[in-house]
Amino acid sequence: MANVPVCARTLSPTPGDAQGNVYLLAVDSISDLHSMPLDTETPQGEDGSELRTAGSLNQDAPISVIILNDDESPRHEVLTLGGKFEPPSPYVPPYHSSAPVEQLFTIPTSLVSEDAARQALLEYAKKKCCYSSRPAQEMLLQDFHPFNTFRYRLDTFTENRLCHWMTEPYYGGEVDGAGNGPPPNRWDIQVEPPHLFQKSKHRMPLPHTSSVETCPHCFGRGRNICGNCCGLGRSRCMSCGGSGRNTDHTCTACGGSGRVRCSQCFGSGSQQCRACHGQGIVIKYIRLTIKWKNHNSEFLADHQSDFTTKRFKKVTGEILLSDEQRTLSSVTNFPEPSINEASERVLTEHHTMFADCRILRQRHTIEWLPLTKVDYTWKGAEYHYYVYGNENRAYAKDYPRKCCCAIM
Ligand SMILES: [Zn+2]
Ligand SMILES: [Zn+2]
Ligand SMILES: [Zn+2]
Repeated sequence: MANVPVCARTLSPTPGDAQGNVYLLAVDSISDLHSMPLDTETPQGEDGSELRTAGSLNQDAPISVIILNDDESPRHEVLTLGGKFEPPSPYVPPYHSSAPVEQLFTIPTSLVSEDAARQALLEYAKKKCCYSSRPAQEMLLQDFHPFNTFRYRLDTFTENRLCHWMTEPYYGGEVDGAGNGPPPNRWDIQVEPPHLFQKSKHRMPLPHTSSVETCPHCFGRGRNICGNCCGLGRSRCMSCGGSGRNTDHTCTACGGSGRVRCSQCFGSGSQQCRACHGQGIVIKYIRLTIKWKNHNSEFLADHQSDFTTKRFKKVTGEILLSDEQRTLSSVTNFPEPSINEASERVLTEHHTMFADCRILRQRHTIEWLPLTKVDYTWKGAEYHYYVYGNENRAYAKDYPRKCCCAIM
């Protein structure tokens, strides 16, 4: 039999059980169902019925268990102790493709003006503490070369739902247990993200999976043996290292015994159980964690210049296409073929990468990014710089006066 992590919560009334009693059990694996110890660790049935364990049941009797694997939704299975268990197939989120974008694109062709180009270089020089602004003021503008380019951006907003067993101290209150019905499929629970395209998290107990159990860490006692003194209540004196003496004198800290009252348990030899906070019972349930995340990819079409594309990260362009859907189809008719290819590739990548998630929303944009190479002369020498983005930013690799200290 496969050793699959399960938690058997409810043993359904077996055919031979005339009373139709509900039996509660908690185990970590199917094999544990066989060796489940009798009664001591299971609370009484809700109806006051006597509790039985798997060991006392007919091996062929059908039992109902909640099964939780790391990659599965918890669900009810009916199985027999002597029978086989097959894990279910992974959850596949539904994929609804929108109609391909059919849009005519108008590509801007404008060049940066002379004034704007000069102003951009002045601003650039001003921001650099050691750059003189004289070249920007005195330069003679020569030629403008457009290297306009395009940026494709895709955002995929995903939701992932994970289930884990949780154990917490129980102080009383309602217990939403298996008696209220089978737990729902984790993907069927309606929970909306607080914001689209923003990272966030939500945790909640999965309905009908709670049960109150004897604390497995202290076996219901509420206290555990102190780890510091091993239950003795006294530990080695740190002042004399346990010898009872400091040089020639009797150790004053321990009075020569070499041992002092344990500072962790104050001499009692036991400590309050951390798992149940001394209650002796815990509530065990499946915690559902919903994680929302935004995944971003972008692609820049080659602009055939020596301008470093990472500089585009800080600027905006003119939006030529903006679309948001549950799931998007790739762009197919953009005049720059590499953008169409990137759209298809990145969308496929996202669908493959987030196959274990539910894609809630996608949006993509195509931007036209202005980029102009400006040739100029200053004091008879030739130079060039770039003006880029809607913000008209400048970048000059060979700016002539990089250090104002050298002007003299
Ligand atoms: Zn405990
Ligand atoms: Zn001492
Ligand atoms: Zn102690």
